[in-house]
Amino acid sequence: MLTAGNRLPSQLIMHAPEPSFLDSVLLRLRERMRPEQFDSWFRGIALGRFSEESVEYCVATGFIRDWLNKHYLDKIQAATQEVLMERGERERRVSIGLDGSLAESCDELLADAEAEGTDQESAKAAITGVFDQFEPESLPVTPQGSGTNGSPTTAGSPQLLAETLLNRDYTFDNFVVGGSNQLPHSAALAVGQNPGRAYNPLFIHGNVGLGKTHLLQSICHSIKKRGGGRVVYLSCEEFTNRFIQAIQLGKLDVFREYYRSADVLVIDDIQFLSGKEKTQEEFFHTFNTLYNAQFQIVISSDKSPADIATVQERLVSRFKWGLVTDIQPPSFQTRLAIVKRKALMRSAEVNDEVAQFIAERVTANIREVEGAVIKVIGVSAITDRPITLALAEEALQGVTSPHRSQIAIPDVINIIGTEFAVSARDLTGKSRTQKISLPRQIAMHLARKYTEHTLEEIGLYFNRDHTTVMYALTKIKQRCETDRLFRDLVAKLCHRIEAS
Ligand code: ADP
Ligand code: MG
Repeated sequence: MLTAGNRLPSQLIMHAPEPSFLDSVLLRLRERMRPEQFDSWFRGIALGRFSEESVEYCVATGFIRDWLNKHYLDKIQAATQEVLMERGERERRVSIGLDGSLAESCDELLADAEAEGTDQESAKAAITGVFDQFEPESLPVTPQGSGTNGSPTTAGSPQLLAETLLNRDYTFDNFVVGGSNQLPHSAALAVGQNPGRAYNPLFIHGNVGLGKTHLLQSICHSIKKRGGGRVVYLSCEEFTNRFIQAIQLGKLDVFREYYRSADVLVIDDIQFLSGKEKTQEEFFHTFNTLYNAQFQIVISSDKSPADIATVQERLVSRFKWGLVTDIQPPSFQTRLAIVKRKALMRSAEVNDEVAQFIAERVTANIREVEGAVIKVIGVSAITDRPITLALAEEALQGVTSPHRSQIAIPDVINIIGTEFAVSARDLTGKSRTQKISLPRQIAMHLARKYTEHTLEEIGLYFNRDHTTVMYALTKIKQRCETDRLFRDLVAKLCHRIEAS
C-alpha cells in the first residue's frame, strides 16, 4: 500500500530518490504513533519535490496539510533526516505542500475505508441512530479488505470532515432586528466580534422558523470574514451521523481531533442529542476541550436547555454557563420589516398595503413570512402582473387557514368556556385553581395558534405577563406530547374553533 511508486506524482520530481525513500520515512513514522493516527494522516501522503536543499511531501487537502504542520512536523522532520543520514545524504529542509492532482482527498480516503468497513445494516443504523445504543467497542466491524458491496454507503454523509456550506444570505446585514430577537441578535454580534470572550457558550433557543440558523451562520460569516480561525458549523444531526461513521470507520481519532481543535464550534439544533447517550458523551468531551481552551461554542435549540428531554444534567448545566437567550415570534412591525427586506433581496417592489397584508396574514414564523413573500413575487412573475393587493390575496389563498385572521380571543374564550364550564371572567381573573388554570392555559395556547396576537397582547388579555403565556404554551405543548387523551382534547377544540 505504502510504496513510493504508487504515490509519486512524477511530474513533481526533479531528482528521483531511491524508490523506497518515502517508504523508509513512513516506516519510521508508523513506529512512533498509534496506528489510527498513522492511518488517519499519513495514508494519502506522497513525495513531492526532492531537491538538493529540500524535501517536500504532498497531501490532498489544505486541512491535512495544516494538520500535519501543526501536529506532526517535528516527527516528519526527524524521520526524514534520519533516513537521509542513513543514505549518506545531507540534511534537507522539510515542507508539506498541496497537490490537487492527488486523487485521494481526505473524504475519498474515508469513503474508501467506509466501503471496506461498513455494510448496509450499519448504514441504515447510521440514519436511525440505532448505533447510539451500542458501546463503540461492540460495533460490528467488517475486517478490512473483506469488502461487502464495495461502494460507499449513502447513509447520512460519508464525509466525516466535510465543511457544511453556509448560506450566503444568512448574514447580520440581512437579519431584521426587532423586539422579539434583539437580545439574541446583539449577543450573536458580540460573539462574532469577540469569539471566545463575549459569551461562551452562547445558547440561542426558539421555535422553528424564527431565525436561529440565520443568526448562527451570521456569526460564522462574521468570524470567517475577519480571519478568526477555523470555524466549524454543523447541525447536531450531522455531528451525530459523523460520530457514528467515525466509529464505524475506526476514525474516532480523526473525528475528535477535528472537532476538538476548532477555533469556533457552532452546533445547530442541539435538541437532536436527546436520548443519544453516546453522542452526548462525545459532545460533552468536545465541549469541555473547547471551553477549557477558551474557544467559542455556539449552540441553538428549539427548546431551552432545561426543556431538552433526556439530555444529561451535566450537559444542560454547561449549556447555561454562558448566555442563554431566546427568540420570540415576531411582532407585526417586525414581520412588516421582514416582508420588505425579503422582497428587496429579490429586487421586487412591494408597497405598504401589500406588505401589511402579508404581515397580517402570515403570523406563525419568519420562514412562513418569507414563503409568502416568495409566493406573491412568484405569482406576479408567472402571470406577468404587478404586485397589487388583489394579486397578493389571490396568491396567499390557502397559504394560511382562511379562518385564522377572523378568529379573535373572545371566540377562543367562548369555546373553552363551553367545554370546561368556566366563565370568561374566571379565565381572565386571578384564580389559580387547577379547574381554571388548565382551561386558561389551553385558551392561551389556542389564542396563540389562531390569532395574530403577540405573547404580550395575549398576556394583556388574560391579565398576565408574556412569560406566563410562554409558560402556558410550553406546558400545553409538553402535555400534548406525552398525554394522548389530552392531545385529542386539544385537537377537538381546534376543530371546533376552525369550524366556528
Ligand atoms: P430556525 O433555524 O430558527 O428554524 P431559520 O434561521 O432557518 O430559522 O429562519 C427561517 C427563515 O427566516 C430563513 O430564511 C431566515 O433567513 C429567515 N429569518 C429568520 N429571522 C429573520 C430575521 N430576523 N430577519 C430576516 N430573515 C429572517
Ligand atoms: Mg434552524
